[in-house]
Amino acid sequence: MTQLLWNTPQKLRELLCELVSWNSITLTDGEREFAPKLLEKIREIEYFKNHPSQLQMHDAGLGRQAVTALYKHPEATETVVLISHFDTVQTEEYGTLEPLAYFPEELTKVLMENPSELPEGARADLETGKYLFGRGTMDMKMGLALHMQLIEKATLEEWPINLILTSVPDEEVNSAGMRAAVTQLVRLREEFGLNYKLFLNSEPSFSQNPTDIDEYIYSGTIGKIMPAALFYGKETHVGEPMKGMTANYIASFLTQRMEFNPLFTEKDLGESTPLPVSLQQKDLKISYSTQTPYRAVALYNVFLFKRTAKEIMDLFEQVANEAMEVLNETYKNICEREHVKGVGQVKVLKYEELLAYANKKLGEEEVLRLKQEALLDEEWDDREKSLRIVDSLMIQCQELAPATVLLFAPPYYPAVNTSHDPIIKNAVELMKKSAKSFDNTVKQVHYFNGICDLSYVNYEDDRNGWTSFESNTPVWGDTYSIPFTDMAELKGPVLNVGPFGKDAHQKTERLHIDSAFVEMPVMLETLIKSLY
Ligand SMILES: [Zn+2]
Repeated sequence: MTQLLWNTPQKLRELLCELVSWNSITLTDGEREFAPKLLEKIREIEYFKNHPSQLQMHDAGLGRQAVTALYKHPEATETVVLISHFDTVQTEEYGTLEPLAYFPEELTKVLMENPSELPEGARADLETGKYLFGRGTMDMKMGLALHMQLIEKATLEEWPINLILTSVPDEEVNSAGMRAAVTQLVRLREEFGLNYKLFLNSEPSFSQNPTDIDEYIYSGTIGKIMPAALFYGKETHVGEPMKGMTANYIASFLTQRMEFNPLFTEKDLGESTPLPVSLQQKDLKISYSTQTPYRAVALYNVFLFKRTAKEIMDLFEQVANEAMEVLNETYKNICEREHVKGVGQVKVLKYEELLAYANKKLGEEEVLRLKQEALLDEEWDDREKSLRIVDSLMIQCQELAPATVLLFAPPYYPAVNTSHDPIIKNAVELMKKSAKSFDNTVKQVHYFNGICDLSYVNYEDDRNGWTSFESNTPVWGDTYSIPFTDMAELKGPVLNVGPFGKDAHQKTERLHIDSAFVEMPVMLETLIKSLY
């Protein structure tokens, strides 16, 4: 019988370190080079030498690719999709140790020699010898290594269930990888007559507070959407302030009412979404001058459990209307006090309304040209492009000013939850039992709060709430899109079971050795085997 490549804790640990050594920070060459390397590595599995066409790469934009590896049992239709991402966040925070960030064994050794460089909690963990440090160890190359180990074992022992290992880039920025993979998963399902029984992600289990050592499994994932606004005031010279209105003044009214606004809180299954905050607020003036800033933008972060894009836009519009009413009232009083007429009332309009207006006024061809100009700017990311499109339309439609234009900026992660699914209920009980055999406690969380790619499967929206996202996202269909129809096709429960770690995205990112190399292999195998 053929030897398994990664079936011992030591071999699995070596596999992890190799995957980590292929540094793959989002939007770097490393991320682009990762998929072909991964493909080669998976090809070492005997089964894929014999079934080369079931190992594929798929374009995910900007030279990056997603990888799928299908193990197909001749009789089985039931299929588990194993989801992971192979990109990581940056490594600057490692300072002088940065070159070691991708070499967990060496990094952990060097840290041992200078433990005082670490904050208290990390130092205590280091000294137990139970953690492996390094960028991507926890988030989430360990998840990928575990999936590789699983699929190898399944092929060799011919488990009567199909597995699709799906590993994607860009999870840390825009999830372009998963959005591309979704369409491929629909295609694979048709081509091989598969039935998706479970979407299993293995993002790490995050501790809920610094001293928390419980492990969590997640039967859903929180959603995130970003309502944004462009504020268009009226320029003037600082010496004549009452002849204009700064965009900053307008923005301040909306931001005040968006941040910490409980209107956006959702509660479900005893959990609740964190409150909204602003992620950015700036004026669009390039350099200092005594002309007042009359264009500004703001970007807000809103978490979701059940609400659709449309419901968020409705709420956002309501808050913006209230904010501008207060502004208009305040401003009216100021004008009376100063005995001036003022620049008029600030209106609220949605991007789709501005677009319709501009199409009518300028003609669709000119609007398209203006959009293209912003889209082609290589310096700008999707968020900046979105705001700049609105800006250039407003410049051509200044008669609408002063105004607050509402829009959505990418990315958008819909929430998913399948806690009530019988498969999930069984799986959760099984995982609790399995963890107990290692003297460990596993707890269930209904919404993974770290944002993950499970957002793009099992999409449910019988009210077509996503169309509001489409029509209010300026870059939609050009540099950003979401395959909502394919996502709705990928029906099936979701679960996240992954290794325990701490401080993802920090220089103290570390993976719990026993959880990763000893417990997880058993737990994941137990889980898959319970499904057939
Ligand atoms: Zn992750």
